[in-house]
Amino acid sequence: MATGKINVSVDNIFPLIKKFLYSDHEIFLRELISNATDATLKLKHLTNIGETDVEYGNPVIDIKVDKENKKIHVIDQGIGMTKEEVEKYINEVAFSGAEEFLEKYKDSAKDSGIIGHFGLGFYSAFMVAHKVEIITKSYKDEPAAHWTCSGTTEFTLEGSDKQERGTEIILHVNEDDEEFLEENRIEELLVKYNKFMPIPIRFGTKEETIPLPDDAPEDAKPETKTVDNIINNPDPAWTKQPTDLEDQDYKDFYRELYPMQFEEPLFHIHLNVDYPFNLTGILYFPKMSQDMNIQRDKIQLYQNQVFVTDNVEGIVPEFLTMLRGVIDSPDIPLNVSRSYLQADGAVKKISSYITRKVADKLKSLFNNSREDFEAKWNDIKVVIEYGMLTEDKFYDKAQKFALYPTIDNEYYTFEELKEAIKGNQTDKDGNLVVLYASNQNEQHSYIQAAKEKGYKVLLLDSPIISHLLQKLESSEEKITFTRVDSDHVDNLIKTDEEKISKLSDDEKEKLKGDFEKVVPKENYTIQMEAMDSTAAPLMITQPEFMRRMKEMQQTGGGGMFGMGNMPEM
Ligand code: ADP
Ligand code: MG
Repeated sequence: MATGKINVSVDNIFPLIKKFLYSDHEIFLRELISNATDATLKLKHLTNIGETDVEYGNPVIDIKVDKENKKIHVIDQGIGMTKEEVEKYINEVAFSGAEEFLEKYKDSAKDSGIIGHFGLGFYSAFMVAHKVEIITKSYKDEPAAHWTCSGTTEFTLEGSDKQERGTEIILHVNEDDEEFLEENRIEELLVKYNKFMPIPIRFGTKEETIPLPDDAPEDAKPETKTVDNIINNPDPAWTKQPTDLEDQDYKDFYRELYPMQFEEPLFHIHLNVDYPFNLTGILYFPKMSQDMNIQRDKIQLYQNQVFVTDNVEGIVPEFLTMLRGVIDSPDIPLNVSRSYLQADGAVKKISSYITRKVADKLKSLFNNSREDFEAKWNDIKVVIEYGMLTEDKFYDKAQKFALYPTIDNEYYTFEELKEAIKGNQTDKDGNLVVLYASNQNEQHSYIQAAKEKGYKVLLLDSPIISHLLQKLESSEEKITFTRVDSDHVDNLIKTDEEKISKLSDDEKEKLKGDFEKVVPKENYTIQMEAMDSTAAPLMITQPEFMRRMKEMQQTGGGGMFGMGNMPEM
């Protein structure tokens, strides 16, 4: 038997980085801009704490595309690097200067917003470039350095005559990646990943129209001027304190997030916590239709204002993925697989924090302006009902504000509902019987019949209502839900005096016989008595359990919801 040592050579690392480190080529720009931002934030921090007296000024990050020479430039006015620092930070793969900085300035820098921490981001440049140059001048009074590398472990490091402080990264773009020499494509990337980063990012210039003065003649043509094309809003709403924001600010930010969305959000929830994890964000309840197949990739996840993904599965409980907005947390371990994510303790805490905040917000809306809450119920019920069904903690909280509307637009909470029907709607076993309709038109005559008996009829028409009723029945004591067209309605204790039929017994029997020929007997019951107080000549009813089983089979199995599965019933 032979034993030996596998020789892991650094030469192997470039092909690995290129192929596997990031599956998505396009993130190279995000990584380089993150480094440029870090370099600028570091300088800001050092000037803030008085470690240096260089002028911080109003730094911007410039992105330039040189299509002719097939180059992309990323230029910052940040901290820069000395020759020794290039050796240390760049040549040592997986050594993070960002982490070192945070370690060194531990207490003062923890809120500085520094992004990097794995020490690998820079090398993503080699996913799209066959050669990368760094020309950099440190804020310390030292000569500039010029580093060049062609994607092997060989590099050159020499002096440079760069005068201005900061770093310029030059990518010599691969033939296969020439899409990134298109201005549109770069702008698309900048808007996707960098739209809310904290240092202004300039991508050339643009023409802006100057608004005409009020007294301008009718045929006056507005003039344009050339201005910097700044891609980002460095102070997005979620980074501010809720007390500094008006309702309109939240609406404006919604528009910024979803420029193509014309409908206003119903309300927002500002998330803001720094212990035991860091998380900020704003979630919006959009106007929601009955349709559960709503688009679910509308919540954007950021880390320190850098866009990461719009797939928040595992981080936000499933029922809340129907919402919109942003979540920003440096504490979500995104370098690991999604299945690990779901088991991660911190992520579980984040998910339950978000659930709690949403429940609290709904509760306070309900308490503070019930009328408004009732008016919005139809647009938000799908989320709430689905949440009650899938998250037990949410169920407990939501029972205080979830509404059960009647056919006549009265809105009851569950407790109020029980109170309202307890005198009139019980069966022989002492169960409260809640009558409901799922379709006003189809069940019209049944609804009429029930109302005339003095019963309250709810209108419950969500696609998942059968599941929720099942859950309500099993978690509450002595209550059953019965659809108005079910045979259970007759089991209610009669409070009315006897009704007299207009048909003779013979006529009734004949009519009943005729109907039984066409309606399958084993599933339905034909009732002649029920017609007494309604305009309908007779009623066909079906056992509640049978109908509900069928419905649950149709909506179960996850197919309807796109993600995940309905709970086992
Ligand atoms: P990370 O950002 O996670 O620390 P990177 O691989 O992205 O790792 O970058 C490695 C290091 O190189 C940084 O930590 C920083 O010290 C240095 N660096 C990269 N880009 C710049 C820049 N534009 N200005 C100054 N230093 C930089
Ligand atoms: Mg980095």
